Amino acid sequence: MPGNEGGGISQTDEDLVPYHGPIEHIFFHPLVIYPELAFDGDRMSRGYDDWFVTVKEFKAIIDSLYKHNFMLIDLNSIYELQEADGKKQTKAKELRLPKGKKPIVLSIDDMNYYDYMLQNGNANKLVIDDNGEIATYSVSPKGEKITSRDNEIVPILDDFVKVHPDFSLNGAKGLIALTGYEGVLGYRTNKKDAPNYEEEKQGALRIIDRLKSTGWSFASHGYGHLDARKVGLDRLTEDTARWKDEVETLTGPTNIYVYPFGSSVLPGDPKYAALLKAGFTVLCSVGPAPYLKWMPDSLMMDRRHIDGIALKTQQSKLVDMFDANEVLDPVRAELLDSMH
Ligand SMILES: [Zn+2]
Repeated sequence: MPGNEGGGISQTDEDLVPYHGPIEHIFFHPLVIYPELAFDGDRMSRGYDDWFVTVKEFKAIIDSLYKHNFMLIDLNSIYELQEADGKKQTKAKELRLPKGKKPIVLSIDDMNYYDYMLQNGNANKLVIDDNGEIATYSVSPKGEKITSRDNEIVPILDDFVKVHPDFSLNGAKGLIALTGYEGVLGYRTNKKDAPNYEEEKQGALRIIDRLKSTGWSFASHGYGHLDARKVGLDRLTEDTARWKDEVETLTGPTNIYVYPFGSSVLPGDPKYAALLKAGFTVLCSVGPAPYLKWMPDSLMMDRRHIDGIALKTQQSKLVDMFDANEVLDPVRAELLDSMH
């Protein structure tokens, strides 16, 4: 559950009404802070143009979601886990929102700050600033070491909700989907034998603690970012166990699994059963529209990818949320065109 420090309005407010419409779920990758490093014509540029959004784009999207009456909710608040005859069951929980508001879940994938991200214009890690708040540490193209609260999804949303408490139900912010193979949140907790392992682990724990008390929750994105559809049962089971051992021990328990590559496996598949057995009852894939399917023992949800591809090719599908043409940062084309 989101903590009290995150702001937002409380679900006990009397003017809430039951909501039965679709629940949007959108996801991002860590933001591009320095477009001149992301779109610099190296071999990663195309991927950055496809899969990432810039700080400016993210801010425009959030402004527009708020203007379109969306309200952030915690994915964990829409279901209940019950046990009957020794079997786990998922039950829908009534969602109550202020009249006219529409629920949206926001997730961030791969906020691990992988090695490749450090060279390509993302932050290096999350840190806690002098006021005890989450900020980023990054290195500018000129080599300046910068601590900022104005260039990543977490601090931008934290501050947005402070100013607009009616953008968040019960202080909910977003869902952070982490792998483990290069550590978490910029801390290399994967290197258990490294001399600075304990320091890295304590660093990660401090951030996780603060995130959890300010409305953020966590999901598994697998340990090694494997495609669940393509790998065998044994490999998926091993990968899941390793995630639980190395990452869940830091984040705390979660029921949510976010498939890497927007992949998925279906009920009836032994791999689906293996994910359930590992404790994942909410399984998130990727799709073009809100999709939520309740199974007796689990729930499947699609998320919409918000990135360069979506901004350039899915304008009409996104129009309920924002005008993609207005959001698209011209700096992408300016930089990439200048490379030819
Ligand atoms: Zn991913």
